Amino acid sequence: LDSKLPQVGTTIFTVMSQLAAEHGAVNLGQGFPDFPVPSRLVDALSHAMQAGHNQYAPMTGIPALRQAIAAKTERCYGWRPDADAEITVTSGATEAIFNAIHAVVRAGEEVIVLDPCYDCYEPAIDLAGARAVHVPLDPASFAPDWDAVRAAITPRTRLLIINSPHNPSGAMFTAADMQALQDLLHGTDILLLSDEVYEHIVFDGARHESVLRYPQLRARAFVISSFGKTYHCTGWKLGYCIAPPALSAEFRKVHQYNVFCSFNPAQHAFAEMIAAEPEHYETLGAFYQAKRDRFRAQLASTRLKPLPVPGGYFQLVDYSAVSDLPDVEFARWLTLEHGVTGIPLSPFYAAPPAGQRLLRLCFAKNDDTMNLAMQRLSKL
Ligand code: PMP
Ligand code: GLN
Repeated sequence: LDSKLPQVGTTIFTVMSQLAAEHGAVNLGQGFPDFPVPSRLVDALSHAMQAGHNQYAPMTGIPALRQAIAAKTERCYGWRPDADAEITVTSGATEAIFNAIHAVVRAGEEVIVLDPCYDCYEPAIDLAGARAVHVPLDPASFAPDWDAVRAAITPRTRLLIINSPHNPSGAMFTAADMQALQDLLHGTDILLLSDEVYEHIVFDGARHESVLRYPQLRARAFVISSFGKTYHCTGWKLGYCIAPPALSAEFRKVHQYNVFCSFNPAQHAFAEMIAAEPEHYETLGAFYQAKRDRFRAQLASTRLKPLPVPGGYFQLVDYSAVSDLPDVEFARWLTLEHGVTGIPLSPFYAAPPAGQRLLRLCFAKNDDTMNLAMQRLSKL
C-alpha cells in the first residue's frame, strides 16, 4: 500500500512499554501514574453510570463540565472563557491537537514545531497535507530561541505549536518568553496551538505561563489540556480545548465528525470533582515536587546525571558516564540488562543533536516502584 504516513511506525512509548513488560523491567518509560485515581472521582464516575449517563453526551461536552472548566480557568489564570462558545470537551489532548491542526491547516501550509516535541504533532500535520518546520530548542536548557522561530516563518506559516511545561524536558516558558512570543506573532495571522497538559505540575513556586493569561495570545490560540495528567487517569482519555468562538466553531466541525462526543460518564465525574476539590489541582505541583526531589536525591548516588526539572513528571538523565551507546540502543540495553525502562530522546526530534546521551524517566510512580528502579540503577 502507498502509505500516507510512510515515516510513522509504532510509537516509542508503546515499543518501550512492550519491551518492559516482556523483560519484567520497572517501567519508567511511557508517562502514566501507577497510583490510584482520587476516590471521589471513581465514586463520581460510578454514580454517573448508575444514574444513567451512558448515552451520547452533547457534542461540545456537558454544560456542567464546561462551566466547571470555565470557573477553574478563571481561578487559575484570571480570565473566564465562555463555556458555550469557547470550550470543547475532547477525547484526550491527542484528539484536541488533531482537531485543532485539521481545523485550520491547509495542504501546502507550514506548521512550526519546537524540537524535541511530542510525537502526535507531526503525523497530524502530515495528514493535513502540510509540512512541519522543526526549530530546535536550546540543547542544554530546552529554552526557545525566538530569533530562530522568527527566521523559520514564511508566508505559508499557518500555525505555531508550543508546549509548556515541556515533554520530554520539563522546561517551562518564562514571562519573557511569552512577551517574545507576543511580539513575534504581532501583526501576523499565524495561529497558536498551546499544549498545556502539564499545566498544574509546576515546581519551586514557579508560575505556569498559560497562553490564557495573555489576551493577545489567546485571541489566536487553541489551548489544550488533559484530565489524564491532572487526575492520574491517562486511560480515561478526556481533555479539552479553549479557543475563541470563531476558532472553536471550526474546531468543533472536526470534533463533530471525528468522535462526535466524548465519554459521557467521565464528564459528569470531572464536573463534580473540579468544582468540589480545587485543592486537588492546586496541590498537584507540591505532590509531584516531593516525588521529583526524592528521585533526584536517589539519583545522586548513581552515575546518571539528572538535568533540572522545572515542571511535568519526567526526569531527564545524562547517561554519558555509564555508556556511549546511542539513546535508543541504551534504552534497550538498560531494559534487558538492568531491568529499568526509560524513553530515549531522539524520537522526539527531526534531527537529534549529535552525541546527545539523554534518557527520560517518569517519576509519576509509587515510592516502591521508584525504590526498585533505584536499586537497579545504583548498580550501573
Ligand atoms: N501532549 C503532551 C505533551 C503529552 O505528554 C501528552 C500525553 N502523554 C499528550 C499531549 C496527550 O494527552 P492525552 O493522553 O490526554 O491524549
Ligand atoms: N504522553 C505519554 C508520554 O509522553 C505517552 C502517551 C502515549 O503513549 N501515547 O509518555
